[in-house]
Amino acid sequence: MKKIIVLVAGLLLVLLAVFFGWVPRLVESTLNRVRASPSSRVSPQARALHGDLQIVDLHADSLLWGRDLLERGSRGHADVPRLIEGNVALEVFTAVTKTPRGLNYDRNEANSDNIFWLALAQRWPPSTWNSLTARALYLAKRFDQTAACSNGKLVAIRTPQDLASYLKRRKENREITAGLLGIEGAQALDGKIENLEPLVQAGYRYMSLTHFFDDEFAGSSAGVTKGGLTPLGHELVRQMNARGMIIDLAHSSPQTIRDVLAESKRPVIYSHGGLQGNCNNRRNLSDEEARGIARSGGIIGIGFWPIAVCAKDARAIARAIRYAVQIAGIEHVGLGSDFDGSVTVPFDAAHLSELTEALLQEGFSAADIRAVMGGNALRFFSENLPKQWIQLNSSLEFFSEALWPAASRVKYAQDFDGAGTNAIWKEIRCIRDH
Ligand SMILES: [Zn+2]
Repeated sequence: MKKIIVLVAGLLLVLLAVFFGWVPRLVESTLNRVRASPSSRVSPQARALHGDLQIVDLHADSLLWGRDLLERGSRGHADVPRLIEGNVALEVFTAVTKTPRGLNYDRNEANSDNIFWLALAQRWPPSTWNSLTARALYLAKRFDQTAACSNGKLVAIRTPQDLASYLKRRKENREITAGLLGIEGAQALDGKIENLEPLVQAGYRYMSLTHFFDDEFAGSSAGVTKGGLTPLGHELVRQMNARGMIIDLAHSSPQTIRDVLAESKRPVIYSHGGLQGNCNNRRNLSDEEARGIARSGGIIGIGFWPIAVCAKDARAIARAIRYAVQIAGIEHVGLGSDFDGSVTVPFDAAHLSELTEALLQEGFSAADIRAVMGGNALRFFSENLPKQWIQLNSSLEFFSEALWPAASRVKYAQDFDGAGTNAIWKEIRCIRDH
């Protein structure tokens, strides 16, 4: 009997070790692949131009996988060393808070939760097990910690002022990169508009209204009903406008896109995807939708994966960019790689010069390449990141001693419990906890 107990306990330990140690790695290696294309040579001309660009990518899910983003990874697509090597000036790191089992681009129910298992395997705080807001706040903390521990190599951007001073510094030093936070799907609010504020305070600057399923606020392009904004969704759009949280229409249903374009008083983006006129599927934008986003003053981020561009090589991305430019205008197109978003891409962040090469081959001028590779997105963020936020927080006054004592600020940085109600942007110290 005793032998059996020891055997079972031993087996359990082995299983736990596999679950916590290897599962996240294995899942990521399987989902986030690079398919190197045979024609990946980069000419000296492309290399020179690439080195001179200010590159912005509107979408990467790299925070999700538990990799130390300060180390050069041997799996996945993006991390600080690879972003610097690829000359990326600004990456938007997005929080994925819930994805459905059997995830697909056509029809997903909202009642399953893959991220729960990933959170468990990566030992996220228990508060994240049943609160999606807590998951987003935890991922923001992960980002803050990465920036705080990076010796200045990863700069956190939250305001136009942050962006301007960072770009000035980067003129002297190309060995740095920057990150901004975005959210994939308004399910991150746990159904409550009040949760918008802590997410803004945690540094999130854009949020899509849905991800792969319909949520309390809007219909998804891959949901069941694929409806538009709900009454709560209309209110959310107004609150996001008022709070300076940029609306992202990626993953939205056509009706949601129509509703938001009619309702939003501020420019909206489409952080990652493609256009149906170039690659026809329901994940991508119609020409009319793309024109609407451009009219709002927004940016369309062209994705690097096959559903976005209908082929697997860098040239296909360049063709998709060409089409988007024809429809939306050169000022309204940018990059939305979806690096580390459970997709296979032709190159990782370190090899982005392959896209510059492909754009040159596609006949783009140097000026147009500068615009789509990042110039447009930098202009967009410097005009649309919330300025009032820094007034509220310039000396952390907003978080008075009574509301959030200095000691708690440190505690928050040490062991964030993610209750979701008192999130705070704080003085962040580098604390290595994972
Ligand atoms: Zn996505």
